[in-house]
Amino acid sequence: MAEYKIHVLKVADFSVPLTMLSLVGDLNSLITGPVFIWYIEGGGKKILMDAGVAAPDSQGLTHGFPVSGGGEEGIRNALASVGTTPEEIDILVLSHLHIDHCSEATLFKNSRILVQKREWETAFNPIPTMRAIYDASMFSPLEQMDLAIIDGDYDIADGVRALLAPGHTQGNMGLAVSTAIGTVVLAGDAAYTNYNLDPLLTEMVDNTGKRFEFPPRPDLPFRPQPAHVNLTEWFDSMWKLVAAASSRSLVFAGHEITLEGKVIG
Ligand SMILES: [Zn+2]
Repeated sequence: MAEYKIHVLKVADFSVPLTMLSLVGDLNSLITGPVFIWYIEGGGKKILMDAGVAAPDSQGLTHGFPVSGGGEEGIRNALASVGTTPEEIDILVLSHLHIDHCSEATLFKNSRILVQKREWETAFNPIPTMRAIYDASMFSPLEQMDLAIIDGDYDIADGVRALLAPGHTQGNMGLAVSTAIGTVVLAGDAAYTNYNLDPLLTEMVDNTGKRFEFPPRPDLPFRPQPAHVNLTEWFDSMWKLVAAASSRSLVFAGHEITLEGKVIG
C-alpha cells in the first residue's frame, strides 16, 4: 500500500466565539486558531483536503469573524511551500462546506472535487444555528466543475479513504491515510482541537497567546463542540474515526494550533 506524508499548511488565522469550542466558555471571549489545508503527498496523485477561508474585508472580517491571511494568496503561498499550486492538485476533498473550508475551491480548476452527499444536500439550507458559517456562493459554482458527490465511506486512492463522520455538520468527512507511522485519521471538524479529542486536557493557548482553562471531564470519552448539528451522530463519528486510526493519538483535529507546519507520517 502507498504511504503518504501529510503536510499541515496554515492559510489564515480565524477568530470565533469561545462558545463554538466549549460549552463552558465565556460568552464574550474570542479564540483565535489556524485555518488549515492538508496536503497529502506520496501517491501518484496530488491530494488536498480543504480549500481555505476568504480574505477579510476592510474591517478585518470574513462573514463577521476576524480573519488574518486567507483568500487566494493564503492558498497559493501555502501550496508553494510544498512546491505545488492549486492547478496541479488532482483531488480536492472538502471535509465540509463551512466558510473556512471551501472558500477558494474554485481555484482548483483541474481537480476532481469530492463532497459528501449529505453535506451537499444540507449546505444550501442549513439549520438556523449554522447559517452564519455557510455561504452558498462559495460552493454553488462547483456544479460547473468536476464535482463528485460521494455517499458514505469511499476509497479515494490506494491508502486514502474518505470516512463519513457527521455530527459537526450533516456530512462532515474525515480521511484515513496510510503513513509510515500507521493509519492516520484527519477528523475534518469532527474535532476542532485536542481539547475535543481529550476530555482530560484543561488548558489551551490560542494563536494570540491567550490562555484558556477548562474543567477536566473524565466522565466523557470526547468533549463535544457546541458547534454541531447532531450530538448522537457526533459521538458515533468520534468512535468511528478513532477506530479507523492505528491509535487514538493518530487522530488529528481540524484546527489544532500545535499542528501548524507539521508533517505527519
Ligand atoms: Zn466546521
